[in-house]
Amino acid sequence: MHQVLIVGAGPVGLTLAAELSRYGVQVRIIDRSPHPTETSKALVVWSRTFELMDRMGCTPAFLDAGLHARAASIRNGRTVLGHTGFDTIASPYNFALMLPQCDTERLLNVQLQALGVAVEREVELLGFSQTPTHVEARLGHADGREEGVETSWLVGCDGAHSTVLHGLGFAFQGVAQGDDWMLADVRLEGEGAPPANEIATFLHRDGPFVVFPIPGGRSRIVATVGKTVAGQSRPDPTLSDVQAMADERAGGGFRVADPVWLANFRINERKVSDYAKGRVFLAGDAAHVHSPAGGQGMNTGMQDAFNLSWKLAMVIRGEARASLLDSYTPERSAVGDMVLRNATRMTDMGTLAHPAAQAARNLVLRFMLGFHAVQDRMAATMSEVEIAYAKSLLSIGRHAGDRFPPPQHDGPAPGSGTMPRFVLFSADQARGAALAARFPGVLDPRPRTPPDAQSLLIVRPDGYVGLSVTSNDWAETERFTQLLAA
Ligand SMILES: Cc1cc2nc3c(=O)[nH]c(=O)nc-3n(C[C@H](O)[C@H](O)[C@H](O)COP(=O)(O)OP(=O)(O)OC[C@H]3O[C@@H](n4cnc5c(N)ncnc54)[C@H](O)[C@@H]3O)c2cc1C
Repeated sequence: MHQVLIVGAGPVGLTLAAELSRYGVQVRIIDRSPHPTETSKALVVWSRTFELMDRMGCTPAFLDAGLHARAASIRNGRTVLGHTGFDTIASPYNFALMLPQCDTERLLNVQLQALGVAVEREVELLGFSQTPTHVEARLGHADGREEGVETSWLVGCDGAHSTVLHGLGFAFQGVAQGDDWMLADVRLEGEGAPPANEIATFLHRDGPFVVFPIPGGRSRIVATVGKTVAGQSRPDPTLSDVQAMADERAGGGFRVADPVWLANFRINERKVSDYAKGRVFLAGDAAHVHSPAGGQGMNTGMQDAFNLSWKLAMVIRGEARASLLDSYTPERSAVGDMVLRNATRMTDMGTLAHPAAQAARNLVLRFMLGFHAVQDRMAATMSEVEIAYAKSLLSIGRHAGDRFPPPQHDGPAPGSGTMPRFVLFSADQARGAALAARFPGVLDPRPRTPPDAQSLLIVRPDGYVGLSVTSNDWAETERFTQLLAA
C-alpha cells in the first residue's frame, strides 16, 4: 500500500509528489492525460513560490530557464498611468519569473525523477471511498483495465473539474466571470511595444489588453473579446484579430507576428470551503479557480502543496499528531479567499463598461500609483510574500504566523533538510539544544540565534513563525512543542 496517492500531475501534484518524496514518503502519482501540458498556460512564478522552492533545491534551474520581469505598468494607449517596480519586494527573488507552464512542469518532473518517482500516465481516478484507516480508490487504465488500490491518504490535484472534489460531495461555490477572453502567444515587432521585461496592462473602453513577456522573445496577449453568450462558443482568434485588437486598445505602434498559440477562454471564480475530509485532501485548481489577473493561480496551488507536504510527512512518519493536518484547510482556505477576492477585484476594475466609471478609474489609478507606498503594496501582494497565518491553530504569540524572512542565498533555509523540522531560535543555545533533544522528531537539533535577543521563536518547516514569545518563556515553548509531537 502506498502512503499517498496523488491524482493529477500538473504543477501542484508534481510539487506535492516531489516534496513528499524528499521527505521519504512513498507516493504514487497518476494522471489521465498521456502527456504533460504542452502550452504556456500559467506564466508567472512569484517570489514566495521561489522561497519555498529553495528548500527543494531546484530554484537555479528555474531561474536559468525563465525571463526576469522587473515591473508592471498600467497604460491608457501610449500614456503610462502607473508603474510598479518589483525591486522593492522584500525577497531574494524580487522579480516575477516568466516561465511557460510546460517548462515549470518539465523542471518539476526532473526534480521528481531525481527522487526516483515517475508519473503514471493514462491512469485515471474513477472513484474512491474512505474508512477511518485508509482510502480505497478505483483506477482506470488506458487498456480498459480497472485497478483497485488502497492508500493511507489521497490528494486531489486534479484541476478545475476535479473527480476528487465531486467524490467528496463538496460544492465548488462561485460564478462564471461573464466575459469571453482571447489569448495569443506571439512576437511583438515595433517601437511601440511595451518593454520586454515588463507586464503591461492597457486599459481601454472596450476592455483590457494585457501583455506578458515570455522567454525566447515572445509575448502573451490576453484581452476580453465580448460578453459570454450561454451555449455559444467563439472561434479561436486569428492573427489579424489580435493585430486589430492591439491597434485599437494598445495605441498601435507594434505588429504581432509568428503565433504559437491562439485560443479563447472563460474565467470561473470558484472555491471550496473545506480543503479536506478525513484522509482526502484537495490542492490547487481542484480547490480554487479564478481570473489570471495577477498570475496567482498556479503559485497559490503550489503553495497549497508546500503547506500540505510537510504536515502530511510529519504525521505519516509518526513524528507529529494527526491534528497537525487540521491546520491545512483554515490556513489555505483563507489564502484562497484573499487571492480570489484580489483577482476578482482586478478583473472587475479592468472590465468596467461605463465610460464615466472608466474615466474615474483611470484618474484614481493615476493618482494612487503615483505613491511609492501604493506601488510597493501592490508588488508585495502579487509576490505573495505577505501571506501570513496569524489566525492559524499553529500560531501562538504576537508575531506568530508571519513569514520568517529567508536567508539571502547563504545556504539552505533553516529546517530545509530532508526531514521537515521546526527550528528553535533562542539566545540560550544550551537550553534550546536540550529541548530539541527531547523532541527530535519535531525540532531541528541545532537551535539558531534569534534576530532579536528578547524573543524566543519556533519557525515552521515552511518558514512561518509558529511560536513567538519572550526569551524566558520556556513553559510556553515546551507546551507548543508538546502539542505538536506525536
Ligand atoms: C489558457 C489558460 C491560461 C492560464 N493562464 C494562467 C496564468 O497566466 N497565471 C496563472 O497563475 N494561472 C493561469 N492558468 C491557470 C493555471 O494553468 C492553473 O492554475 C494550474 O494549471 C493549476 O495547476 P493544477 O496542478 O492545480 O491543475 P492542472 O494543471 O489542471 O492539472 C490537473 C491534472 O490532473 C489530471 N486529472 C484530472 N482529472 C483526473 C483524474 N480523474 N484522474 C487522473 N488525472 C486527472 C489532468 O490531466 C491534469 O494533468 C491558466 C489556465 C489556462 C487554461
